Amino acid sequence: MTKPVDLRSDTVTQPTEGMRAAMLAAPLGDDVFGDDPSVNALQDQIAGLLGFEAALFVPTGTQSNLCGVLAHCQRGEEYIVGQMQHCYRWEGGGAAVFGSVQPQPLDHQPDGTLALADIEAAIKPDDPHFARTRLLALENTLGGKVMPMAYLEQATALARSKGLSTHLDGARLFNAAVAQAAQTGSDARAEARRIARHFDSVSVCFSKGLGAPVGSALCGSRDLIARARRIRKMAGGAMRQSGLLAAAASYALDHQIDRLAQDHALAKRLADGLAGIEGLQVEAPETNILFVDLVGPARERSGGLLPHLQRNGVLATGLYRLRFATHLDVDAAGVDRAVAAIRSFFKA
Ligand SMILES: *Cc1c(COP(=O)(O)O)cnc(C)c1O
Repeated sequence: MTKPVDLRSDTVTQPTEGMRAAMLAAPLGDDVFGDDPSVNALQDQIAGLLGFEAALFVPTGTQSNLCGVLAHCQRGEEYIVGQMQHCYRWEGGGAAVFGSVQPQPLDHQPDGTLALADIEAAIKPDDPHFARTRLLALENTLGGKVMPMAYLEQATALARSKGLSTHLDGARLFNAAVAQAAQTGSDARAEARRIARHFDSVSVCFSKGLGAPVGSALCGSRDLIARARRIRKMAGGAMRQSGLLAAAASYALDHQIDRLAQDHALAKRLADGLAGIEGLQVEAPETNILFVDLVGPARERSGGLLPHLQRNGVLATGLYRLRFATHLDVDAAGVDRAVAAIRSFFKA
């Protein structure tokens, strides 16, 4: 049987031949001593690319967000965050568990943004009853949605005017940048910088659509990154010859940013292929993630869908709300196979 088309996540990508060669050729040192040349090169590369003074290479996006939040906030302080954001909902409560930093989650608007009035109302006055509000954390893309530039500007300006710092979970920042570049006709790197410049810190994942096997980076001022480096050590994330991994991330930045447009086109191809199937509500994808809700009688059959897809060589996640992610190991034939398998399930 042919290899399954894996639409569960853009984290499943295998390193390309070119990336493997770059990893094998990478000069290595001991990064805890600060002398792994490949790690240092990556940190300089991503900091420069996004317009920051410094960056820190970390094993995961979860640790990157943890280092970011704890570098901004002390115990007894809080960060404002959306209910569905990764650094609130999907990180085991790490900021609270390890840092005694309290989240103040807010509901999202239908477009994924946090209402400015809600942000403002959540900022506590200086009163011993309250945790000190210290940070606004946003995410872009959020569930595959690109946050509007005007919103990012307004929300971060509001935060700054109230003395808050700002953090962006940009795990998929380059998906947002590539989608934005397609609209503006500008370069994806320039768009990434345009998004990042509103924030005091930005976290990016190399192991999602960019296609590296492991790793994220936290970017910020020299002082912030020095604090984050201590936290990374405490969290057990200071690695040794990690240049092997950093080289893969550098290769991704050099060669695999612009190709994210192909993933976006494939998500659209999938959405178009599923349109019109009875019982499926297909959201228009903005980047590489597609959500499909099962409604009516289709909902009652949802339990059988993923096993059916798996038998037909298609992997996905979800139950009543399916999630499909496209990435560099998915091609048009794979998408068409997924469409055919889903059609055959609902036709039967
Ligand atoms: C994947 C992801 C992370 C971090 O994920 P890790 O699995 O810890 O690398 C953080 N934020 C967002 C939005 C993500 O999608």
